[in-house]
Amino acid sequence: MKTQTRVVVIGGGIAGCSTLYHLTQEGWTDVVLVERNELTSGTTWHSAAQVTNFGMNQTMVGLKSHSIRLYKELAEDPDYPINYHHGDGGIRLANTERVMEGYRHFASMAKGMGVNFEVIDAAECARRHPLISTDNLIGGLWDPLDGDIDPAQLCQALARRARKAGAEVYRNTPVTGLTQHKDDSWTVHTEHGDIHCEIVVNACGYRVNEVGAMMGVHHPVASMEHQYFLTEEIPAIRDAGHRMPLLRCPISDYYCRQEKMGLLVGFYEQGCKTWGMDGIDPNFVNALCPDDLDRVTDVLEGAFARMPALMEVGIHTVVNGPITYTIDGAPLVGPIPGKRNAFCIIGLRAGLGEGGGHGWLLAQHIVHDEACYDTWCLDPRRFTGHANVELTALKAVEDYQNEFRFHFPHEHRPAGRPMKTTPLTPILAAEGAEFGTVNGWERMAYIKPSADFHETHSFRFTEAFDVVAKEVKALQSGVGLTEVSGFNRIEITGADAQGWLDTMFCGKVMKKPGRVGLGYLLNHHGCVKGEATIAHLDADTIWYGSAAASEWHDMDWLRMHLPEGKDIRLRWLTNDYTILILAGPKSRDVLAAASRGDWSAAAFPWLSVRRAFVGIAPAVVMAVSYSGELAYEIHVPNASLYSAWLALRKAGEAHGLTLFGSQAVESMRLEKGYLHWKADLITEFDPFETGLHRFVDLSKPDFIGKAALIRRKAEGPRRRLVSLVLDCTHAPAHGGDSVVASGRVVGTVTSAGWGHRVGRNIAYAFVEPDFAADGTVLTVEVIGDPVTAVIVDAALYDPQNNNVRA
Ligand SMILES: Cc1cc2nc3c(=O)[nH]c(=O)nc-3n(C[C@H](O)[C@H](O)[C@H](O)COP(=O)(O)OP(=O)(O)OC[C@H]3O[C@@H](n4cnc5c(N)ncnc54)[C@H](O)[C@@H]3O)c2cc1C
Repeated sequence: MKTQTRVVVIGGGIAGCSTLYHLTQEGWTDVVLVERNELTSGTTWHSAAQVTNFGMNQTMVGLKSHSIRLYKELAEDPDYPINYHHGDGGIRLANTERVMEGYRHFASMAKGMGVNFEVIDAAECARRHPLISTDNLIGGLWDPLDGDIDPAQLCQALARRARKAGAEVYRNTPVTGLTQHKDDSWTVHTEHGDIHCEIVVNACGYRVNEVGAMMGVHHPVASMEHQYFLTEEIPAIRDAGHRMPLLRCPISDYYCRQEKMGLLVGFYEQGCKTWGMDGIDPNFVNALCPDDLDRVTDVLEGAFARMPALMEVGIHTVVNGPITYTIDGAPLVGPIPGKRNAFCIIGLRAGLGEGGGHGWLLAQHIVHDEACYDTWCLDPRRFTGHANVELTALKAVEDYQNEFRFHFPHEHRPAGRPMKTTPLTPILAAEGAEFGTVNGWERMAYIKPSADFHETHSFRFTEAFDVVAKEVKALQSGVGLTEVSGFNRIEITGADAQGWLDTMFCGKVMKKPGRVGLGYLLNHHGCVKGEATIAHLDADTIWYGSAAASEWHDMDWLRMHLPEGKDIRLRWLTNDYTILILAGPKSRDVLAAASRGDWSAAAFPWLSVRRAFVGIAPAVVMAVSYSGELAYEIHVPNASLYSAWLALRKAGEAHGLTLFGSQAVESMRLEKGYLHWKADLITEFDPFETGLHRFVDLSKPDFIGKAALIRRKAEGPRRRLVSLVLDCTHAPAHGGDSVVASGRVVGTVTSAGWGHRVGRNIAYAFVEPDFAADGTVLTVEVIGDPVTAVIVDAALYDPQNNNVRA
């Protein structure tokens, strides 16, 4: 066994084997995989191993497409062919129009990744799958490339290719400990000796937290028991003359594929069970949980009704095994939060279908610091301190129970809520607030007009449309108040802080004390990594503020680039403060009535910051606006939040103060051309492509990503972010929708919604440069239907910023 290598991948299931193989593909061949038992002896060996192209966003579709391409290539390798039923086709069923509309959106989104799904009616479903009845069925989504693969052969094929390229695989070699050294390298302790390496990768499936504990980390991953059974031969299958397509049923929560001349049917029952919460037997190897078909009776009835042939055959095998889940159903693939040179590829619940792609993206991350797609939806830093074991288990159960039921726009499911709250959460609830969650924080979406108000989530405009319109109107003509919980905030102090920060941002963020600016962080490829508000409270204190979701991501990035031996201190204030936003033409009047001092435009103009008291509550007040109205962000310590709230409410009485929520903010920011991190601001594009020219200063001596950005600039843009106005009123576009010209996809929507002040249906999209000129007429697919769209100036509302300067 080697004692020194570059990367040690721990775990020889699909996650580990795929990572190992792809590292060699990226050119790193001095790499090793250690497996405690035999390859695939965790979950992988007993997987139903369906391989679909369906995903909720373009990153997921892209990585699954990679799996499919790779598996096909492996299956056709004459030296080591493997069993892969490629292209049997698969149907996701639907019995409501709302779900069918979701499928139309997903089909449009996948088209942008070169994947062609088809939305078909019930009769066509039955034609393609002769065993199903069309009772209680409207139609479905057809994935022509759906199939299944032999999981053991797949892993052996990947390991074999990796070995051929120079990688080594050590079986029956349990990792027993991990030690990190001062230079961030690692020693991996195994039962057969130590291996010193630069980088470790945790790919340990349901034992993820045994290995996590070895490095002092708890990963938000929980396991669920999951069952399928295999039937005896079904004559209709034998006689069909073709393989049966796969089925996934959100109506009755099962999936089904052909296995030999019978069926394999898997279940997602409501009475599901977590597994291994109190530790895992070390001897649970190549093992299964006891069968428990009683638990799935309800689901089984649905499957019988859909496929009556099932009732006439015997069951010959039941498989019940552990399957891992995270808090939002997507895996954790990327850097381990708070650690250096440590990565994970864990929480895979569809690891056979996705594993090829996850290993591909992870290897790119390890070797190049970034992958070809923005992988925020997989990034382990997207969950923060709230992601403990109890919450993970609750969300895992909820997710399992809803396996095939995708989230509709603005849908936030109830398990584990409230998670993170402020002292105002119950006050806002009493005011009638509807909440969504952002990084676990409850955040007010809007105030419900009545106690029994109910929003039917859909890809169309919903009942909340008029509610939000009213909030925007009241604010635009008067003044509104809202809370922004969980905003990420880091206090930066020290003699060297200014000089260091200057090298972190691509533009000029260093300002005089009392001023605020917006800055962009680039990665080493010159693409957009982050966005932050930099507030110079005084000569020594800077506040770095960014999106709530970016908390661990941004802190990781800042810490990673902290120079040694410099006087720079970072203090995390995210959980200590909350923002109250006053917005609207009368916001200055309300602030002045609640807080001593001169708040006039002359004394406290747009982009100013100062410490003040709001009533008796200490606060940091910034004259910044995401709404495009005169507005103030009032940052208040949580201990004083209620007090500040009361002071503003009281001061607002004379000015007709109303409340507004995050959906109103979203509408207004779209009208102003303001961008959203990880929707419009992604690592796939540089700041010029993203339209952030005014935030880039190439004359600065240096900043992270400068050299790469200069190179990219010389090459010219591959896409440009544009603002579109859509000619329809029934639905907004959604992130991922295709933008089409001359019958070809030329772009993708990043974010979209109704602009209530301008009365326009707005979408932002990255489009090919030839189609990016103002006035260009394009087509945007809204719920799958073509809608005419025109490129407009991004600032549709008050382009001169007169309101915010008033
Ligand atoms: C019943 C069932 C049906 C499924 N059906 C499908 C499906 O149809 N399609 C699909 O895509 N997915 C399916 N899945 C999920 C899929 O099987 C998993 O996502 C995938 O197998 C997980 O692979 P992994 O490599 O992450 O974990 P594992 O396969 O569990 O591999 C982890 C490896 O790490 C090793 N390890 C652990 N601790 C150590 C240590 N200390 N030292 C060294 N090695 C260690 C283990 O021995 C193990 O081999 C199904 C799962 C189940 C249970």
